[in-house]
Amino acid sequence: MINRFKTFYLSILSQTKQLDHGTIIVLSASIVHVISLVVFSYLSIPIMIVINLLSIMVCFAMFLPEIRNDYSMILKIIFTESIFYIFAATICIGWNAGFPLYIFALIPFTYYISYLSTLKDDNRISTLGFSIVATVAFLSMRLYSYFEEPLYHVSEIRFLYFIYMVNAGISILLILFCLSVFYSAITFSESTLRARNSRLSSLAITDPLTGFYNRRFMVDHLRQAVYRAEQTNIPFSLLLCDIDDFKLINDTYGHNCGDQVILKMSSIMHRIVRDSDYICRWGGEEILILLPGCPANNAARLAEKIRSEIIEHPVQYHGNTVPFSMTFGIQSYEACTDYLELLKKADSKLYQGKQNGKNCIVL
Ligand code: GH3
Ligand code: MG
Ligand code: MG
Repeated sequence: MINRFKTFYLSILSQTKQLDHGTIIVLSASIVHVISLVVFSYLSIPIMIVINLLSIMVCFAMFLPEIRNDYSMILKIIFTESIFYIFAATICIGWNAGFPLYIFALIPFTYYISYLSTLKDDNRISTLGFSIVATVAFLSMRLYSYFEEPLYHVSEIRFLYFIYMVNAGISILLILFCLSVFYSAITFSESTLRARNSRLSSLAITDPLTGFYNRRFMVDHLRQAVYRAEQTNIPFSLLLCDIDDFKLINDTYGHNCGDQVILKMSSIMHRIVRDSDYICRWGGEEILILLPGCPANNAARLAEKIRSEIIEHPVQYHGNTVPFSMTFGIQSYEACTDYLELLKKADSKLYQGKQNGKNCIVL
């Protein structure tokens, strides 16, 4: 039973989602007035029949192009019409018919319309004033009903209960509708925000071409690695490497080909280096790899694997085979050395490798 109601509610909700919000507002207001028209015709209360007909006309006036997209105007009209209508109905058949319950729906409804206007980038409608007026109207209707008898007496008490149930039911549905709109708006913006945040965080720390970490992120990790090594005595290694004669590749085949070489190098490194290691694009074609818990000889083995893979996989560019190689400098953590000192040592080993004919590893 609950599941069937849920399916029905969700199907109504999905259908209403296809309508534009203005149409939903006008249709729901019109449905309320058509039901009331039937009720008051049955009770033969001419004044309420006239007021209902006028209210239905007001609802359809909201389809006028000048009003339709002006949410502030729609809110003023619906609000004034509803308060007036609720007063008239309560004066005619009394508090117990439950018309004042619509005020409980009217308050979230003002927030709903204000929300719609913010979606359209219109000025935000102040809902506080409307909510205060609605509350005062509710309380004064209550007070009025204490002192004054209704103009018309509904002889069948069961019919009065029926009217009350219909009014309560519609009010609750309207409140549910507004809440479900707010709920889906909140969950949607939460998930969009979370997705954007994680995308921004990843953009802030990665290099777009290679997908490696950027220099800023790596500096933080180098500091942490040195601190951890000091505390635990567990070694780590730095592997600084650079593409050989890259300028020549750029000059011979063009900058795009140079980019392809960088991409090839990055895909090989992504494949070989463990997820727990940190690869960073330290400079243009200079890569720094931080290998936590890894002594120098293991780092050398990894460097050799990368070096030989790179040699075996030249880039194919517009029918040309473009071979390339890399030179590596390896420096392990040494006690009482900060990361800048370690980097300097790795860099001088890399320089040494370049001097020794490139395409080699210097420990
Ligand atoms: P060595 O073997 O001594 O390292 O010589 P090299 O030519 O590789 O070194 P050098 O530092 O003289 O040249 C590096 C060149 O890399 C210069 C720069 O224009 C180029 N470069 C830097 N970043 C990029 C990039 O993202 N794409 C391309 N295509 N070229 C880049
Ligand atoms: Mg180079
Ligand atoms: Mg360089």
